[in-house]
Amino acid sequence: MAKGEKVLSVLRKTDIKYIVLTFFLSCGLLSGCGAVSGLPSVVENTVDLESVPAESLNISDMSESTAVETDSSDAEPAEPTVTAGESGGTESVDSETTAENESVTTMESSQETVEPEREPDAEFPESNPSDEANAGGSILAPSTVLSLTAGSILMEDSVDWNRINEYFAVYEIYEGDAVYNRIIGKSYQVNDNIGLSDLRYLKLLHFNFDGNIQVGELICNAALAQDMIDIFTELFYCRYQICSMHLIDNYWTGDGVESDEASIEVDNTSCFCYRRATDAENLSNHAYGRAIDINPLENPFYIIRPDGSLEYYHTNAEPYLLNRDPSIPHVITEADDAYRIFTAHGFSWGGNWSNPKDYQHFEKLT
Ligand SMILES: [Zn+2]
Repeated sequence: MAKGEKVLSVLRKTDIKYIVLTFFLSCGLLSGCGAVSGLPSVVENTVDLESVPAESLNISDMSESTAVETDSSDAEPAEPTVTAGESGGTESVDSETTAENESVTTMESSQETVEPEREPDAEFPESNPSDEANAGGSILAPSTVLSLTAGSILMEDSVDWNRINEYFAVYEIYEGDAVYNRIIGKSYQVNDNIGLSDLRYLKLLHFNFDGNIQVGELICNAALAQDMIDIFTELFYCRYQICSMHLIDNYWTGDGVESDEASIEVDNTSCFCYRRATDAENLSNHAYGRAIDINPLENPFYIIRPDGSLEYYHTNAEPYLLNRDPSIPHVITEADDAYRIFTAHGFSWGGNWSNPKDYQHFEKLT
């Protein structure tokens, strides 16, 4: 691709599929979710401001129906500047402040409406999301949310539930762009096994452990990007709770395996990291972006030693090593929505391994 060229590519999906999916999911008719008994209430089921800890919202004016905060642990504004697209409900990337040759892929919109909250080509000051959230109406456009730093928290009624698929986006990564600058020399190493063009950066929404909507991010293999978008969209409709989703680079220690441990220590969900497998010399499937670890503290990795004792790495995960009662929040079992949805998309689960056990781990070979 020529330097300086800006490309908007559209991830090909049938409109019909998403219209039908959105309709049925919105109506609760496709709900197999364990966490909810029915989804028709999803639009009305807004967050009661009084029930939300003030510290989790971090907004000055609680009378606003829209609120957002930036996770202080996510120090680096990472994403390309996203501007309102010229072609209706899709987003384009302004490469002015990031890479010279950045491209973005978004879920194809099933709506053709122009986002009403902003003028076309308005720039979103990603460094100041709170002002951004409070300046607009009660609903934040997908492009606005996609410009927010991972970890930002949204009020439930600040997203357009008729356009949920547009809040899930796939971006290519190019040398010199904002994502590249975050990962180079850290989770991404120049190597002979996987290149930038084999990877995709995803921005998405999930519910956090407080039940609030939170912005998440991950990098995965390009061949799995559509699976990941579909899976996390389904999990979102299930209101599946994930503690946080930041790139592992936010926890970088200088070593891939150690950084993975640092990410796990704070229960962060992550996918790509060019590193060897835990307790092995071969590359992990995480090194190819083909594996993801979900809520790792509640879903630990352990090795069963010959004497029957367990070898594990996180003392704060001890309560979850052997007690895998499905009624315990965030514990993945075969009754869990994450298991159901990931395996439906062809992923295998580390919880089914005999030794080691890796309850957090789903992988799909490409
Ligand atoms: Zn894993």
